Amino acid sequence: MTETAHSPAEIRRPPRRGLAGVRLGSVAGFEISLDYSWFILFFLILATFTGAVFPASVPDLSRLEYLLMGVAGTLLFFSSLLLHELAHSFVARWKGIRIEGITLFIFGGMARTAREASTAGDEFLIAVVGPVTSFLLAAVFYGIAAASVRLGLGDPVSAVAAYLGLVNLALAIFNLLPGFPLDGGRLLRAAAWRVTGSLRGATRIASASGRFMGWAITALGVFSLFAGGGLIGGLWMIFIGWFLAQAARVSYQQLLLQEILSPLAARQAMSPQPETVPPDVSLEELVHDFFLRRPFSSFPVVEDGVIVGLVTLGQLKTLDRENWAHKRVSDIMSPVEETVIVGPDTPMSSVLSMMREGGSSRVLVATNGRLLGIISTSDITRWLDRVGLVE
Ligand SMILES: [Zn+2]
Repeated sequence: MTETAHSPAEIRRPPRRGLAGVRLGSVAGFEISLDYSWFILFFLILATFTGAVFPASVPDLSRLEYLLMGVAGTLLFFSSLLLHELAHSFVARWKGIRIEGITLFIFGGMARTAREASTAGDEFLIAVVGPVTSFLLAAVFYGIAAASVRLGLGDPVSAVAAYLGLVNLALAIFNLLPGFPLDGGRLLRAAAWRVTGSLRGATRIASASGRFMGWAITALGVFSLFAGGGLIGGLWMIFIGWFLAQAARVSYQQLLLQEILSPLAARQAMSPQPETVPPDVSLEELVHDFFLRRPFSSFPVVEDGVIVGLVTLGQLKTLDRENWAHKRVSDIMSPVEETVIVGPDTPMSSVLSMMREGGSSRVLVATNGRLLGIISTSDITRWLDRVGLVE
């Protein structure tokens, strides 16, 4: 797959995207992580390679040999995917765009960029290098398979290499489908952007094409189920088509959101006069009088009219229930120095990038330490719903 997250307004990432998983480490400064959903893909591919693909291509080997081929093939498959995403990441970094990380998940991989490309040309380069990398990998693997006899590599190695050639070829071609946010959809967007001069118009075209592509793949999946194609293959196409259609819709909405919010000041987007908590309240009271009675997951902590910190449901959950009676809000809150506070006239474009880069889901709006309002991911979600109504 591709990076679904070239879109700018990723502040909604924690609740919406739901990507959570295992950090693998970093390559050339890029953080690599595995989403929990990736493990499903891993075992599915390992099982397919070990149980079906390699026994069909090289008969009469032992179970252990098929397993070894399966493990090698699966690891090389994910390395190929990673190289595809790394290629996007290197070009994006070269074009001055920060990469927030590379995540492998159930539908493949994605490199999350901190912002949109500045020009259609940059967008084109960042998108095209992924499929180019996959084509090159296909050529390398096919080359190894073709030369395996001369190199004395044996049938198992040759079979694994040949299949990885095929997989990388398929990866390159699939990603070139002209539906946003696939690489091909990004190329389409870059072309439309160059022709029309409007990123928004170009994104609308590419997103419509992405939705169409998504539903077409879903329909093919349904057809293949009824036409007696494989159950897993059919279901897979339905899921991937649905995912693509959703991603195409959300990417466009996020771009609109960014465009609508960016010209506003913090005071126009905030929820004014939020409820606050005094620092000396016990955690028991905090739970019963605040969290259980209100739909909020955090409260600004205010003493004598001045902000002293922020307390969140997450901080409360780190503490055992028996400590609630004799601990106070001031014991667990994040102090004011660690809280993101902006002035009422701060442009929302800065607030959005602060939230994105700091990974914080709430920002306080204040003048001279006096609280005016709060901007949270749920406020932004509300804006997104309005955008959804407009569309
Ligand atoms: Zn890609």
